[in-house]
Parts: sequence; C-alpha cells; structure tokens
Amino acid sequence: MSITRRSLLVGAGTGAVAVLLAACTPEPKPKPTRTTTPGPKPSAPANVPVPAGWARSTWSTDPYSFGAISYLPAGADPTHRDTLATPVLDRVFFAGEATDANSSGTVLGAIDSGRRAGLGVLAAASDAERIAVIGAGAAGVAAARIIADAGHPVTIFEARERTGGRLLTQSDDDWPVPVQLGAWLIGEDDVAALDSRLITISDKRIRLDTAVGWSAEGATDSIDDTPIAQAIEHASTLPTDVPLAGALEADGADPTEPALAAALAWLAATTGADPTRASSWYPPEFSPDALNGLTGDLSAFIDDNLSEIDVTLASPVVRVAYDDRGVSLRMGTGESLSFDRVIVTAPLGVLQQQGIEFAPALPFEHRGAIADLAAGYIETVWMRFDEPFWDAEETIWHVVGGDGPIRTWLNLQPVTGEPVLVGLVGGEPAAEFAALSSQDAKVVARASLTFFAPQPDEPEN
Ligand SMILES: Cc1cc2nc3c(=O)[nH]c(=O)nc-3n(C[C@H](O)[C@H](O)[C@H](O)COP(=O)(O)OP(=O)(O)OC[C@H]3O[C@@H](n4cnc5c(N)ncnc54)[C@H](O)[C@@H]3O)c2cc1C
Repeated sequence: MSITRRSLLVGAGTGAVAVLLAACTPEPKPKPTRTTTPGPKPSAPANVPVPAGWARSTWSTDPYSFGAISYLPAGADPTHRDTLATPVLDRVFFAGEATDANSSGTVLGAIDSGRRAGLGVLAAASDAERIAVIGAGAAGVAAARIIADAGHPVTIFEARERTGGRLLTQSDDDWPVPVQLGAWLIGEDDVAALDSRLITISDKRIRLDTAVGWSAEGATDSIDDTPIAQAIEHASTLPTDVPLAGALEADGADPTEPALAAALAWLAATTGADPTRASSWYPPEFSPDALNGLTGDLSAFIDDNLSEIDVTLASPVVRVAYDDRGVSLRMGTGESLSFDRVIVTAPLGVLQQQGIEFAPALPFEHRGAIADLAAGYIETVWMRFDEPFWDAEETIWHVVGGDGPIRTWLNLQPVTGEPVLVGLVGGEPAAEFAALSSQDAKVVARASLTFFAPQPDEPEN
C-alpha cells in the first residue's frame, strides 16, 4: 500500500501528464445543510456518575457520511438500489452499501458492491487504463483490489485523514476492548458470508445475548416484535406502501406506548430506519436479542487489502466531469485530474447533500434513486465507569419509558470484566444526539441511564 496525504505524484489519465498535488493546502469541506433546533438544555442526573472515559460517533452530521446506513422509506423499493448501481456511459460506476440490493446497510453489502463495480470496470476497460476510486471504505477498497489485481493502475481518493469509512476502531489501553464507533455488531450469517469470501474482518468477538427491559420500576420484560411483525403483515395487503409507524397505528397499535417504543428504538438503533419513514412493504429487519461484537482492529481488513494501491488521504473529490471518453475529478483544492473511469463509493447521504457535483448532471433515474432512498441515522456512545452503578447482569438493556433518547445499552461488564456501557441510538433521535455539543451529549447519555442507577432519596416532607 502507498498511502500519502495529498503529496503524491498521480499519473492522470491515459497518456496524460503526472500532476503534483499541492501538500498542506487547506481543503474546503462540504457544508452540512442539516439544521436542528436546539431543545432545552439537558440537566445532569444526580444518580448516574460522570464516566471516567467517553467516546461517541457523529455520523449524522459528518460531511463524508451524512448518515450511518441506507434504508428504504415508504414508496421506495430495492430496484432503486439497482438503478443507483447502474454505470453511466460505462465511465462513472457506483458502489457502496446503498447500491447493494441483497445486503444493503452492511459491511458485506459494501464489499459485494465494490466487487460488482470493480468487475464492471474490468469488463469495460482496455489494457492499462487508469482507474480512480472515490472513498477508502469497504466498498472502495474491495473495488480497487479487484482492479489492481487485474493489472490496472488504480488510485483511491479519500476525503478523510484515514481509511475505513464507516469502520472506525479506536484502540486505547484505557478500554478493555477497542472502541468501535462504526460497524462492529455483525450477524452470525454475515460473519459466515464474509468468511466464504476469504475475508476476515476480525476474528476476535464477544457475544451479547442476554436481554432485559428496564423501566422506572426496575427490571421488566425484554422487547417483543410481535406488534411490528403483525402490522407489517397487514400492511402488505394495503393498496399503497405506508410508513411503519402508520402501519402500526392502522393495526390498532400505539407506537408511543413504552414497550412498543422500546422495540422501535431497537429497530432504529440496529438499522438506522426511522419508523415514521421506513417502508412497511420493504421493512427494516428486526434483529434478534443476540449480537456478535467484533473486538479487533477493523481497519486491519482495509489495510490488508491495499497493497500496491495508491491511496491519497485528506483528498475530497468535489466534482466528477464525464463524457464517453473519460472522467475528470476536481479536488477540494481546485486541481483537476483525468482518469479513464471512476468508481464513486461516497455514501448515500453525501450524494443526497450534493457533496459531489456531477457534470453533466446524472441521468434522471440516478437522481431519482438518490432522492428516493433514505439515509438512516445511528450513533454510538461508549462510557467507561470507575465502578458499576447498575444491578443488571444482562448484556443488552432496553429502556422502557422515560424520555432519554438512548434506549438501547450494551453492558460489556459480563464479557470484559470492566464497567463499560455502549449506548445505541437510531433514527431521528440519533441525528438530534449527533448535533449536541460533547458536553450536552454526555449529560443526555447519563440521563438515558437513570433507570439503571439507584434512585435518589425522596425528599422528606
Ligand atoms: C454506527 C454504525 C453501525 C453500523 N453497524 C453495522 C453492523 O453492525 N453490521 C454491518 O454489517 N454494518 C454496519 N454498519 C454499516 C457499515 O459500516 C457500512 O455498510 C459499510 O462500512 C459501508 O461501507 P462503504 O464503503 O459503502 O461506505 P463508507 O465506509 O462510508 O466509505 C465511503 C468513503 O468515502 C469517503 N468519501 C465521502 N465523500 C467523499 C468525497 N467527496 N471524496 C472522497 N472521499 C469521500 C468517506 O470518507 C468514506 O471513507 C454500521 C454503520 C454505522 C455508521
């Protein structure tokens, strides 16, 4: 692998001259267009201690993701993903989890999409064509690997200062396992599917498979997806696709009822899908109360696949100009580089926010697919405490009732021996959580744990 930060010589386009990218030029970042109205200032709960260690993700507001996982809102269907995956003039190819109709929203889907786009490029390209890949996440790296193995010069342009995209491991001796802020909860089937493709993204795992609900009164039943499954079944007979929350209401259920709200919060935290938008015809899949947490350094999978590939970090592409003879990429610095073909793996959220301009504009079908798919939100918060303040031995906690936004917690104490809690929040509450300052987010996270802590003594009258 040759990874550089905006200072390498790139052979640009067949027969074109090499272009020296200026180092150290500050690059403009796309501006987030999302606005959130600040709510009342959260107040710290007296009964939940301040954590000794803390880390959180902000994928919803990150200009290079603008979301965590794509999903199908009411009215969309899997063919929108196929449309987005269709090459334009055989010059501009698309990959990334949002373009994979079989395993969207997963690392597996991202890898499969990258391979599909890489094979598409190879089928169209003649010998020695120069190929560019936008994005060094799982899809971009899988695509670049296939193209490089076939003997083509390939360069990856990555906007961030690191590879991995939505795989983000922070290794730090203060934590019993590396902190994972992106994908790390991989289903058993996906692990087997990755293995069958000779990909090992991590062989270190913890199993989280005991669940409990917790309300103001203490332990209660874990969540139950029966009302959701019934509503989806009934909605499948309706003349139009209605959002999941509407399907529940049409079925006589109340999505705000605490037990059902906890189940919907789990659904959103594991799929990013907002129940008020998600399709009931193509619904997000409800995960069982059992997860495999990967505890290795997930960036190793990316780096292992980058040998002999040029990667330029901190190099956002802001414009892709194309015709039937080639493509020209404009970088954030204003430089332009020519290639024969490009694979775009920027996340759906980036495409929706027009973080990359296309010239000419993409065909109507592509623009329609980008607009009609949904970028879902998931945020993760890791908290390490000096000692446990809770009395729950289960590894998955569902908060039933209350008004804290983080309704799913993973208790890593039983599997690591140290008092570490991981909060998962999805859907619109995740976007609101990401928009908070670090200080406010910490207060909100502690407030979301209040049911698990000893209740403060009632004032005596
Ligand atoms: C919190 C969270 C939890 C998740 N949980 C799971 C899970 O448990 N299991 C699972 O299988 N999947 C999970 N996922 C989804 C999984 O992470 C993604 O499906 C997968 O990593 C996406 O890979 P990708 O290559 O399609 O996109 P990305 O990894 O996002 O890669 C795209 C790359 O493009 C770069 N980029 C963007 N714009 C530009 C630009 N203008 N110029 C240059 N580069 C650009 C980005 O920086 C990024 O590196 C989760 C994701 C999140 C965020």
